[in-house]
Amino acid sequence: MIETRILGCNRDSLDAAVKYIEEGEVVAFHTETVYGLGANAFDDGAVLKIFELKGRPSDNPLIVHVHRDYDISPLIDGEPPYAEALRKAFLPGPLTMVYPSTGKVSQYVSCGLNTLAIRVPSSPTAQAFLKAVDLPIAAPSANLSKHVSPVTARHVYEDFAGRIPLILDGGACSGGIESTVLDCTGKVPQILREGLVTRAMIAKVAGDCGVYRRQAGEKPKSPGMAYKHYAPRCNTAHCRTAEEAAALYRRALEEGERPCILAESSVAQELSGYAVLDLGSTGEEMARNLYALLREGEKRATLLIGVEPQLQGGVMDGVMNRWKKAFGAI
Ligand code: AMP
Ligand code: MG
Repeated sequence: MIETRILGCNRDSLDAAVKYIEEGEVVAFHTETVYGLGANAFDDGAVLKIFELKGRPSDNPLIVHVHRDYDISPLIDGEPPYAEALRKAFLPGPLTMVYPSTGKVSQYVSCGLNTLAIRVPSSPTAQAFLKAVDLPIAAPSANLSKHVSPVTARHVYEDFAGRIPLILDGGACSGGIESTVLDCTGKVPQILREGLVTRAMIAKVAGDCGVYRRQAGEKPKSPGMAYKHYAPRCNTAHCRTAEEAAALYRRALEEGERPCILAESSVAQELSGYAVLDLGSTGEEMARNLYALLREGEKRATLLIGVEPQLQGGVMDGVMNRWKKAFGAI
């Protein structure tokens, strides 16, 4: 066991972070999407440590994070013209771009794929950390594999206390769901994972944008999407209406469970006599609240009942993708 310090971003904590990264250690840091668990992308041992700490499957590649002035050209094997336009439009921000790339960073980052996923986070804490280390930092979300992604330093602490030396605390994450992952290796960009930068936003800049849908039996293009994810540590149930949720809730109470309902604001208000968590009413609110409430739900309840939000499209594509995985409602 080591001491895990949670420190705000200042000269001392940044110096400590740089020292840990240079020594091949792993440091957690705030971003605008979720907290990341970072290591020097050039250091095989440090990158492997991330997989070991998380219990992450060894074929699920990592995203490399760099500061806004970092020259990514030595990390990639060229970029299509639309990628440059997208970088200018959306970075720093919650968009990860997948480029053709071989042998530029540790082989364990991309797990044998001939591509590299790169992200420039906008969080001031992330920028300060990345600037101070001035290295590409491989970082997945700072949660144990399969668990709900962390949106506060406390969430990271709950999963990794005693196992990592430092969490750079930048407060609650404003975005709340992981970045959009965009394949930039083809003629037209293609979304591999939906997020806060939506297909419409990308198409407006790039002229067109596809969304990757895995065919049955096909090896996934973005291996992470195939795994069980975002699961709260309590039983879950999924339903479509307030009435259905209320009936499930009452039955669960009779059976000695401690139920709790997670629903968008209008439904949460309808069910105000029950233990209920309010997800919000806009796509952005639901993205920001989802992981924090899944973590709160697992603490409060033995059964978390999700009522599927009605709002669709845009940011909700990303929210619903996580929602379905959290509730096993695929
Ligand atoms: P996480 O950082 O835990 O949110 O996971 C990173 C996501 O990015 C996973 O869904 C990965 O499959 C995906 N990813 C990372 N690198 C690549 C890559 N080179 N090609 C395709 N997807 C990637
Ligand atoms: Mg993750």
